Order: sequence, then structure tokens, then C-alpha cells
Amino acid sequence: ARGLVRCYAGQKSLFTKPSLVRAVDGVDLTLNPGETLGIVGESGSGKSTLGRMLLGIDAPTEGQVLFDGQPMPALHSAPWRALRAQMQFVYQDPLAALDRRLTIARQIGEPLEIHGLATGAELAERVAELMAQVGLRQDQGARYPHELSGGQRQRVIIARALATSPRLLVCDEPVSALDVSIQAQVVNLLRDLQERHGIAMVFISHDLKVVRNICDRVAVMYLGRIVEEASSDQIFAQPEHPYTQALVSSVPVPGKRLQGRILLKGEPPNPAQRPAGCAFHPRCAAALQICAQSVPPLQPTAPARRAACHLLDASHAGQAA
Ligand code: SF4
Ligand code: MG
Repeated sequence: ARGLVRCYAGQKSLFTKPSLVRAVDGVDLTLNPGETLGIVGESGSGKSTLGRMLLGIDAPTEGQVLFDGQPMPALHSAPWRALRAQMQFVYQDPLAALDRRLTIARQIGEPLEIHGLATGAELAERVAELMAQVGLRQDQGARYPHELSGGQRQRVIIARALATSPRLLVCDEPVSALDVSIQAQVVNLLRDLQERHGIAMVFISHDLKVVRNICDRVAVMYLGRIVEEASSDQIFAQPEHPYTQALVSSVPVPGKRLQGRILLKGEPPNPAQRPAGCAFHPRCAAALQICAQSVPPLQPTAPARRAACHLLDASHAGQAA
């Protein structure tokens, strides 16, 4: 399968004072139609940049992004604008993404107007339908963003993203700004809508427990690279990469005491100071001698599973640090 979106050897350098850093470094990733892929990692791991690359908002410095087998058109070009209806973005901060001077109904209907998909009574009907789908009351359509709660505002963003019946939805930390009590509601809403409409979804989060409930597959990023990719079940039941193992060990399982929590030592990753070899080696309790020198390739460890760690490479097994 060629996938709906494919990032091939995607690399993105960004100027972050005082230097040029490689935010995304050689990422190969395929998102299949109707699938939900989680991208997890600490801040600075490049996951937001990768999400923007998948939508053509950030063009790769090297490599390529394909949508439906075709090269992603340049940002704001006519072909990109035409594709835009098929790919939507849900951001972390709904208030920043909304126009404070426009009513909720107006903003939900905006993409339909922009893409010439509905006008007049049909537009009003479609907006009412979208509001119902995301659990907003009809009378809230006449309200302004600041009159709604954070959770309601994120429902507005989701309704607006769904308006054009997209095939791809990229959600970047969609619930991290919300109260924990509201997070599950919004995640469940996204999951229901994704299932109902068969949308391919990328769900970016630093919070592994949020990802667990919604993703079919998970890619774990560390300093711009994917270090592990597997089904959600495999990631949580049997993480292979030491970094994933540490992340998973801190996720509580309902009804179980947290056991064997692996605390990450050292500094969080800084893209401006990438360690040589395996970028995770200064924090890795299992590091071998080779880890400081040689970058472990991301390679298959089982069908539909990949990981980048020298420990998983038979030729290095048994070598002591
Ligand atoms: Fe740890 Fe080495 Fe594996 Fe990197 S390659 S995760 S340092 S064991
Ligand atoms: Mg981010």
C-alpha cells in the first residue's frame, strides 16, 4: 500500500537561535487511509514539525512528502489550497486558532464557504449538523469564542476541521491545554468521529496515556528521529527501545499499581546539541560502548515493527559498556 501520506527521508532544518538545527532528521513514515497514528516524544523531538510537514505547511529541507502518491504541492499554491480541504489541522490552543470577533457558527462554516462547498440554507444546515456531531448546543452557534469553555472551543475547532470532510486530520497536542477531566471527552470525540468518517489521523502528543486510547499505531520520536514504531498494543505491552520503555513505564494502567518505573536521567533533549551516535545514549541505562559512536538504524524487529537500538542488533548483543 502506498499510503495516504508518506514522508520519505524527510528532513527539516530550522533556524533556532543561535544555529540551524535539524528538527526532523531522516524520517520515513507512511500513514494509511483511515488509520490513527500517534507521534509521541518530549518537547523538542520534532513531532510538531513532522506534523506540519505531513500537511505541507512546512516543506522538507530534504526528502519528500507524498499525498495520495503525489508530491505535496508548495504551501499556498493553488494545488495546495485545493488539497487543503482534504487535510485539516487541530492545534493545541483553540483560542489562538479562533477569531474572537466571529461567532462560532460563522467560523465552523468558514471552510465550507472558502472551498465553495455550501452557501445559504445549505450552509446553515451543514453547520448545525457539525455542531451536533461534536456535541455543541445549537444556541452556542451565536456565541463568541471567549464565551465558551476550553473544551467547547476545542469542539468548535474539531467541527471546523471536519466541515470539508477531510481524509487526513493532524491533531497536535489537541487536549494538552484542557483540564484533565475534559481531556478524555475530547479524545473520545475524536476517536468516534475518526471511526465514523474513516479519517486518517495523526495524533501528536507528549502524553503517552492520551495516545493509548485512540491510536492504532505509534511512532516514538527522539531528537528528530523515529526510534520506535509499532502497533499501539505492542508499544504498551512490549516496548523494545529503552526510551519507549521509560515512557511506557510511567503510564498508569487502571487498577494496577505503577511498577518498575524507569526514571529518565539527564537533560531533556536539546535539538541544538545532538549527542553523537545514538542521541539517547547520555540518558540510556543500557548504553553500550558503540552507542556513543554509531547511530543505530531504524530497522524491522518483527513484521510491522521497527526500532533503532544497538541492543536489538544481534551483532552487538553481549557487548558491555
Ligand atoms: Fe540505549 Fe544504545 Fe539502544 Fe541508544 S542504541 S537506546 S544508547 S542501548
Ligand atoms: Mg509541539
